[in-house]
Amino acid sequence: MKKLSAFILSLFSLTIFSQSLELQQTRAVYKHLNAPVSSYVFDIDTSKIKALGYKSLDSLNLYGNTKPTTIGRVIPNVKGKFYNFEYDGIFILQTPSNADLETLNTNPQQNLELYYTIRALEILKRRYGTLYAKLIQDVLYPSMELANTTHLNNWVNVFSKIVISFNTVSNDVAISGTYLDTAPTSITIGNRDGFLYENIAVVSIHPELIKGTDPYKGAYPIYKLGTPEENYMQFLKEGLLHAVAHELIHRYIDINNTKKGSIYNYIAFGNGRANPYRSNYDKNLYNLEEAMLNQTLDVYFRTHGGLSAALLEYYYKVQTDNLNAIPNLEAYKATLLQYSGLNPDLSFKW
Ligand SMILES: [Zn+2]
Repeated sequence: MKKLSAFILSLFSLTIFSQSLELQQTRAVYKHLNAPVSSYVFDIDTSKIKALGYKSLDSLNLYGNTKPTTIGRVIPNVKGKFYNFEYDGIFILQTPSNADLETLNTNPQQNLELYYTIRALEILKRRYGTLYAKLIQDVLYPSMELANTTHLNNWVNVFSKIVISFNTVSNDVAISGTYLDTAPTSITIGNRDGFLYENIAVVSIHPELIKGTDPYKGAYPIYKLGTPEENYMQFLKEGLLHAVAHELIHRYIDINNTKKGSIYNYIAFGNGRANPYRSNYDKNLYNLEEAMLNQTLDVYFRTHGGLSAALLEYYYKVQTDNLNAIPNLEAYKATLLQYSGLNPDLSFKW
């Protein structure tokens, strides 16, 4: 009997301990609520990181064996094999060097990137909860409320999974794409028959451009600090969070582009003309979408605080350049505002 109660007690204290660890970590973040995000120091619960092995994204069975994917064929950024991890439902992919594969080691840079990606997700969730809800929580099926989606067409787009990969395929610091579900499920939308597309959002971060050695792209032009390492670390500590949020707004627009009566119904974004990979690509619409995204994040982060002036000013300049590159800007803006629910400054009403 005594033994049993000791056992119960130890179980109980184990529960208390794990709760207090979670609480401590939450407090460690909230303690910094008005402090720069780059100064946050907190532990990550490593037991929540699942190592899924060195394999292709398609072999991870992201749909749980119910349907196969050909993501690597459709989105070149995730072609080939990766070290794959899962944290809190988000997949994180890293490309090992040949030397790493021979020694079966992960290199220090990859450990840093894994840690800081998870840290960025945790900060999004805990400090920028409204942004996290819009870009991650609410777009992931089944949390998205299908009943509230009114559509022009007989389909509904949601995200089944979100993938963040580190690779050097593109020439940009960050890029993203949507993998369209190739076997949508039959559902009822209102009183009509339709299809549910459980897509996969893929965000890619360029592990070389964030190192702070390129004078024109990545971490250096944002921070312009003395050494590449300083720029790299500052990017990991706050630039990464901004880059992931930026790319996820592109994906948000992508899956909402059939939603009636909203910005997404505006012809520019509705038929993908802002996408450089489409044949009907319109550079002006691309610039407009970029400006809209950066303005939304500018308003959000200036209101909520936490990101450096260097980062905010850099993206404000990018946004200004995007707008200045549009020859008949006022006409484009007027059309966009007429059809959208945007604020006059082009930011989302979030
Ligand atoms: Zn963009």
